[in-house]
Amino acid sequence: MEIRRIADQIFYLPATEKPLSADVGIVCCGEERWIFDVGASEEAAAAVNGLPGHKKVVLSHFHPDHTGNIASVKYDALYAGAYTCKKLGTGEAVCEQRYFENGIHLFPLPSSHAKGCVGLEYGGYAFLGDGTYSAAKGGRAVYNAGLLRELIVTLEELSAEWVLQSHREPFLCLKAEVVAELREIYARRDVKEPYIFV
Ligand SMILES: [Zn+2]
Repeated sequence: MEIRRIADQIFYLPATEKPLSADVGIVCCGEERWIFDVGASEEAAAAVNGLPGHKKVVLSHFHPDHTGNIASVKYDALYAGAYTCKKLGTGEAVCEQRYFENGIHLFPLPSSHAKGCVGLEYGGYAFLGDGTYSAAKGGRAVYNAGLLRELIVTLEELSAEWVLQSHREPFLCLKAEVVAELREIYARRDVKEPYIFV
């Protein structure tokens, strides 16, 4: 599987639809390889296992297209939201912002899409997984208004100029554009309703 370059130390394996497998982010920090999501395809697992160095895996959320390969990839440390750790029965929970000496920043991402979303920021780029997406409720796409407001604040506080959202073409987007889209959705809310249908 072809590893694509985003910046000097930042790469990714693109998502696939058959099988449904999320993008795998790769950040190279010295001897360490920080892997953001492990995907669900055999190809993605083989590509991750083929990387050199110490591997630190971060899971954006518990959905199987992001976590499916966790039993087949080898890693030295695993970080995820508390809910994901509970679901998988392993990993170190990211319950608040964490800054590592090498510049890696992990942060909880208030998300309508799934419980316990986590993002990873490094060198001006932030991997967000599915965190900016809606949830499905009664067959409709919906945001939780309170979580959407918190999400917008969280994104604005990141120093990253660029964000990477799973399954999206283009994968790389300006954070300001993503925040503007989310603000537009938030502006459509009915203040009496907790949900915003989109
Ligand atoms: Zn998801």
